[in-house]
Amino acid sequence: MKAVDLLLTAATFITFVLAVYLFSSDPVLSNSVNWAEDRPTAESQTKDKPKGSPQNTTAVSNTSVPLSASANAPAIKYPPATRWKYIVIHHSATKQGNAKIFDNYHRNEKGMKDGLAYHFVVGNGAKSKDGQVETGQRWARQMAGAHCYDNRMNQESVGICLVGNFDESRPTAKQMDALLKLISDLQKQYRIPKANILLHKEVDKQQTNCPGKKFPANKIR
Ligand SMILES: [Zn+2]
Repeated sequence: MKAVDLLLTAATFITFVLAVYLFSSDPVLSNSVNWAEDRPTAESQTKDKPKGSPQNTTAVSNTSVPLSASANAPAIKYPPATRWKYIVIHHSATKQGNAKIFDNYHRNEKGMKDGLAYHFVVGNGAKSKDGQVETGQRWARQMAGAHCYDNRMNQESVGICLVGNFDESRPTAKQMDALLKLISDLQKQYRIPKANILLHKEVDKQQTNCPGKKFPANKIR
């Protein structure tokens, strides 16, 4: 009889503890929802505003991998991957620049925690060598870019930005040579067909005319 009482008391107590736990777990649930929303999912949107190619993303900078901005840039690495199905070409819409400058802009002005939205930057001789190809950390880490509004394209395309404003002038000859070599190497490595080499304005038709009206589209495919 006492044993039964004891059991009942124990059962009641356990039920009570369980109920308290279930009710109190609500805030835990909502916390985890907030975490999910805080994740940088908003890397899809780009506009080619004045300083390279902007973005909306959450969060502030933390990590930074050195960009190969210096003169003796190492050979570009092309790690095995299946995700790269397109190449998207941009201009910076600025007269000068380099990967570090655009990285700073995207990181600190646009709040993109992974920095530089493009995988590669091709210099024009102003703040970078003419025809120099710089590799961004998103390429080094084989991460999605953040250079298109279309998020699927950020996932599946290699983003290349040429320094310059090609609404006003054309890319330099060395820039074009470097770009064509880069495109050709990417095509070979990832079996990207010519038809999948796109100008940014062909991806985000409503939002941009990047890489500008003077970019010689006929040269890239
Ligand atoms: Zn663009």
